[in-house]
Amino acid sequence: MRLITRCAVTAVLATSAVVPALAQSTSAAASPREVSGVVEAPLARARALMKDVPLIDGHNDLPWAMREGTRYDFDKVDIAKSQPQLMTDIPRIRAGHLGGQFWSVYVPATLQGDAAVSATLEQVDAVYEMLRRYPETFALARTAADVERAFKDGKVASMIGVEGGHSIDSSLGTLRMFSRLGARYMTLAYGTDLPWAGAAGEDTQGLSPFGQEVVREMNRLGMLVDLSHTSTRTMADALRVTQAPVIFSHSSARAVCDVPRNVPDDILRQLPRNGGVVMVTFVPGFISEDAAAASRRTQAQVAQFLTQFPDNPAARQQALVEWRTSNPEPRATLAQVADHIDHIRTVAGIDHLGLGGDFDGITSVVQGLEDVSTYPALVAELLRRGYSDTDVRKILGLNVLRVMRRAEEVATRLQGAGAPSIKTIDQLDGVARKGQPVTPAR
Ligand SMILES: [Zn+2]
Repeated sequence: MRLITRCAVTAVLATSAVVPALAQSTSAAASPREVSGVVEAPLARARALMKDVPLIDGHNDLPWAMREGTRYDFDKVDIAKSQPQLMTDIPRIRAGHLGGQFWSVYVPATLQGDAAVSATLEQVDAVYEMLRRYPETFALARTAADVERAFKDGKVASMIGVEGGHSIDSSLGTLRMFSRLGARYMTLAYGTDLPWAGAAGEDTQGLSPFGQEVVREMNRLGMLVDLSHTSTRTMADALRVTQAPVIFSHSSARAVCDVPRNVPDDILRQLPRNGGVVMVTFVPGFISEDAAAASRRTQAQVAQFLTQFPDNPAARQQALVEWRTSNPEPRATLAQVADHIDHIRTVAGIDHLGLGGDFDGITSVVQGLEDVSTYPALVAELLRRGYSDTDVRKILGLNVLRVMRRAEEVATRLQGAGAPSIKTIDQLDGVARKGQPVTPAR
């Protein structure tokens, strides 16, 4: 199963249920609790904790939204001002106490080869442009120490995350150059199987010998191995090969919502040994089984309208809007997101949790978590459920900072031990790279 992707229904965004809801979100916290003899409302406590420790989010697709909306024109869409058509702008970043962000430089898997590489470079360029235009708000971060420094300076520590191995066109040299540009994680596979890594879906493929070499080279570079969007076999293979902790930049728990994009319990149970984190995502179709079923029905309709109106996007959009109006999707809720966090804490432990909202990469939203201003409401819910201040600090950012530090240590050791890998996919897998169109495995 693949969720409807950004590209499929972006045009419908403006008319869907996406609404900025700062006021709505703050209503979640009400009941006071006693902290060291002082009664403090959970939302106030949440905000105090978020001033103390950076909330580091694993995945935000603002660069892609800017590409789709205005071809990266920050004059037309000035995020220093309120931009209600987006889920991310600076006023809401400040309201939500975002302390660090892995900005996704996603490009769709329909792009392969050189086209994927150049589009990803344009996405990286957009992140740099955003940092240049809003220096009071953002600071580039490559290391855990950079994140802490940026947070201390009152800025959002900005990391780059490559979403999908198609962005490196089966080339370790390209991987290394993305690392030099500041990419601190790469999702191994996105959308469809690659020649060297399996994507979430039918789960027929894991990591090829070249795929394992990619993981080793990422360890050497200090780039985090991101297992969101990958097949369960790829997750298991990567956990066997990696010397550094892995991340799931935006995934939730499969035992709570049974979709392939979520993490199964047998993988969760391996995290204490590996040291990695699952950054729980707010994608409605990964949170609630009812929302997942509704999203599958919508996906089928999108496919049908594509066949029905192949050359008329306006008619497609109109048909989809009408269909959605007569078939309202059940909403996933903030409490259900907290249920995923509860489950992962039970199975993997409090040291293996983080948050990865996927804001601006989704076409519908969880009730109570509509945009980047809403994080404090989720933190307040955890406090109400009895999470201690120490627990919350770990989920906000301390766990991810620990993972980054450990990956940096592994990189230093491996860089001292040997040269970069010059292996090729031709040598390791017997698959030609140049000039070969990639055929999805299903
Ligand atoms: Zn994604």
